[in-house]
Parts: sequence; C-alpha cells; structure tokens
Amino acid sequence: MPLIDGNAIARQILQEIKSRVAALAPIVPHIAVVRVGDDPASISYVTKKQKTAAEVGMKSTLYLFPETVSKGELLACLDTLNADSAVHGILVQAPLPAHLPETEIFNRISPDKDVDGFTSTNIGRLVQELPGAFAACTPAGIVELLRRSGAATAGKHAVIVGRSLIVGKPAALLLLAKGTDATVTVCHSRTHDLGAITRSADILIAAIGRPRFITADMVKDGAVVIDVGINRIPDATKKTGYRLVGDVDFDAVAAKASLITPVPGGVGPMTVAMLMKNTLASCELSVRD
Ligand code: NDP
Repeated sequence: MPLIDGNAIARQILQEIKSRVAALAPIVPHIAVVRVGDDPASISYVTKKQKTAAEVGMKSTLYLFPETVSKGELLACLDTLNADSAVHGILVQAPLPAHLPETEIFNRISPDKDVDGFTSTNIGRLVQELPGAFAACTPAGIVELLRRSGAATAGKHAVIVGRSLIVGKPAALLLLAKGTDATVTVCHSRTHDLGAITRSADILIAAIGRPRFITADMVKDGAVVIDVGINRIPDATKKTGYRLVGDVDFDAVAAKASLITPVPGGVGPMTVAMLMKNTLASCELSVRD
C-alpha cells in the first residue's frame, strides 16, 4: 500500500514557489486573508495559511471582523482590497456566519485576485479551460498529488463522492479537462447504489465529511484513493480530546488500494500549497501587465 505523502509533495511545491517568489524581488506577493468570527477550525486554517505564506517569502495581512459584521462592511473591505494594486490575492475564509450570503461575498472578489477560485468568473474560466483560471485549491491539490505520485488519469474512471462548490464540482472539472482526461462520475447523497459506482472507480475521491464512510467493500482492488475528509472524532488519549480522521476507513481500504492519501498529511497540506501557487501566479501576472 504505497502512501501518497502530501506533506512531502507540498514541501517540494513550496520550495519551488519560494524560489519564484525570491526572483520577483523587490516585489513581494501579498495575500489578504479575511476572517469573520472565532470558529476554531477557521482560526487554525488561517494561521496555517499565513505561516506558510511567511515561509515562502510572501506577505499576508489578516482582516478580522466580528461575527456580527454586516454584509455591507465586508463588501466595502473587499472593494478596497480589489482596488489596492499591492494586494495580489484575496481570500475570505469559509464558513461565514449564516446572515452573510457566501456566494455574493465570494463573487465580490476581483476574479484576478480570487486565489481561492470560488467566483463565478473563475469557475466559468475552468469550464472553458481558459489559461490563467484560478482553480479551487483543494481540487487543484488533488490533481497535483495524482500527477506527482505518477497515478495515470487519462481514460481512467474517476469517481468523486461529494458535489460541493469547493471540492466535488471543481474536482470533476479538473479531472475532466484536456490533459488530465479522466472519465468522471460525481456522486452525492441522492445517488442510488453508491457502492456499485465506487467499486468501478480507478480513482476514488472522497469529499463527504463523514468519518470513515468509504469502507473496503466499496473499493476496487488496486484503486487510487484520495481522502479529502477532515473529521474530528472524540479521543480521550489526546490532549485536545479529539483526533482527525478522513472519510475513508483507512486501514481496511489501504490494504486494497494501490495508492492512498492519509489524513492528516494527504490533501490538507496540498490545499495550502495551491493557495500559495495561485497567489504567486496572480503576482507574476500583475508584474507582466
Ligand atoms: P459539503 O458538506 O459541502 O459536501 C459534502 C458532500 O457529500 C455533499 O455533496 C453531499 O451530498 C455528499 N454526501 C453527504 N452524505 C452522503 C452520503 N451518505 N452519500 C453520498 N454522498 C453524501 O462538504 P465539503 O465538500 O466542503 O467537504 C467535504 C469534506 O472535505 C469535509 O470533511 C471537509 O472538512 C473536508 N475538506 C477538506 C479540505 C482539505 O484541505 N483537505 C478542504 C475542504 C474540505 P448532497 O450534495 O446531496 O448533500
């Protein structure tokens, strides 16, 4: 069961990014990170993104708003950041509190600074396979993991379980794109006989948000398995009282898979690396303009 080591692959990519960032001096790629409220997972994701930005020599600025912030205040902040030529990437950390319309807020980000790839424009660019589209970071990380671990995708049946805007749907577009050339099936909670479909997968991508949902009987021998899920389950032996597990029943599925990502240490580090890659690309483009 060869493991796909997301930490090692992400480190390699970040090293490449660091060299390209250094070559841009005195210009420094700058990412603006907008966080609303004090959700512990959001705090930890934002901290990780800012720490990684610093490691590769990028600047990051945190814009922090209380849970009660109005839509107008948030949009005004995005307008200011859109107009600031020293800012190359803007990201609004999800999830936002219920009173804030996520799609409308994401769509206010200038598509050329939308390094998370969630605006309608960037999703449209992805559908049209236009160069320069910012692909959502987690799906881009998945495709990069497949490439760098030598997993063939052309003509392979890729089954994605999950159809969210941040993972499932853009992952389908990227796997389908020319050059990657997978045959793609997307499943969700209304899919009939899920196991029959997942068993036909050469590449199985689990993005469900349910601990160990994909069991060994749902996986074909020799499949490549990418586990996107990050679930906290109670664990009294840990200081935090919990530990992280994926959407895949790792031990049993690993015994059948030809390649598999662990959780943690699989897709997670790649998501942050792809965010840095998009921010660098945005900065390089702005220098060329
Ligand atoms: P969402 O909750 O937005 O989407 C979950 C998807 O799973 C939905 O499409 C849902 O179907 C589907 N689903 C739920 N139950 C079933 C079921 N019983 N059978 C088949 N499909 C089902 O989650 P996200 O896409 O945002 O995230 C998925 C997981 O990935 C989470 O654990 C999240 O924490 C993790 N994640 C990890 C990242 C990383 O960097 N590693 C980044 C982003 C997310 P339906 O649409 O019908 O409701």
